[in-house]
Amino acid sequence: MWEKVENNYVKCKICHNQCLISPGSVSRCTSRMNVNGKMELETYGLISSLASDPIEKKPLYHFHPGTRVFSVGGWGCNFTCLHCQNWEISQSSKREEIINLRKGLGVGGYCVSPEELVDLAIQNNCQGLSWTYNEPAIWLEYTIESAMLAKQRGLYTAYVTNGYITPEGLDQIAPWLDAFRVDLKSFDDEFYSRICGVKNWWGIYETTKHASELGLHIEAVTNIIPGKNDSDDNLKKITGWIAENLGEDTPWHVTRFFPYNKLQDLPPTPVETILKAVKIGKEEGLNFVYTGNMGETALTECPRCSTLAVKRDDHIEVNLNPDGTCTLCGRDLNIVY
Ligand code: SF4
Repeated sequence: MWEKVENNYVKCKICHNQCLISPGSVSRCTSRMNVNGKMELETYGLISSLASDPIEKKPLYHFHPGTRVFSVGGWGCNFTCLHCQNWEISQSSKREEIINLRKGLGVGGYCVSPEELVDLAIQNNCQGLSWTYNEPAIWLEYTIESAMLAKQRGLYTAYVTNGYITPEGLDQIAPWLDAFRVDLKSFDDEFYSRICGVKNWWGIYETTKHASELGLHIEAVTNIIPGKNDSDDNLKKITGWIAENLGEDTPWHVTRFFPYNKLQDLPPTPVETILKAVKIGKEEGLNFVYTGNMGETALTECPRCSTLAVKRDDHIEVNLNPDGTCTLCGRDLNIVY
């Protein structure tokens, strides 16, 4: 996923940043380096976070409901979101210290091999493996190798992603990837350039459509930030695009923003704004719209006969046919079960 260009530079093609990295320099996502005219992944297996989570926490509501997923995060990110909740791992200079430690330690220490990662998932009674907390594409090779092993050992696999991976990058992991939980943050240049620090936002939509064409299970999340991406027009464009390109049964999660990192001067998203977004999503044809960060009980009802299919509260109650369809009328609910 890279090529050598003039003057010993390398060009990375994994995400839409398409970094040109000069000899001896580190990439924008801080995971890659040009070492003597070759692009190397410096953060292979370097773990920042591990946890056993309910799959609903990702959030993935239509994908193996009620199961636990082993969540893993690395270091760095291809975005520089002003409101990132995980900035200590995505935008931290600790990465340098850790790489130096790793070089001193050799393999081990902060390193977890793909084999060890899958072993840990199984030992922790998880049914799946998810790359999350920071952008998974930036250590693509590591996620591919661990996804291959995870699938061999009967686990499901999920990317929790900003969607900035190129379609070609996604092709590399797609054979071993089941779910693509993507942030569709906005539908305009200004939000992506000012808040997230990236230019080619349309690539996210292209890659997400490609993920759908590849048959991955897709759920989209929009975190609504007051005054930044909360206009009716923006929300209509996002949800209209989802309905038209991914299908009306694609789950859309609309979540509350809370002041964080460099956006602490903004208020939390008013509840009325979230409810407005839900209304817009439904008007645009989406059948499964969920709110997030509101302490809610989340219900999935059959759009045809209103039978309760999944109730998510302190625990998860599932009422589905074995193939994930409605128990009363048999409608396909787009639930992987
Ligand atoms: S994955 Fe990293 S190095 Fe590659 S293009 Fe994206 S930001 Fe640049």
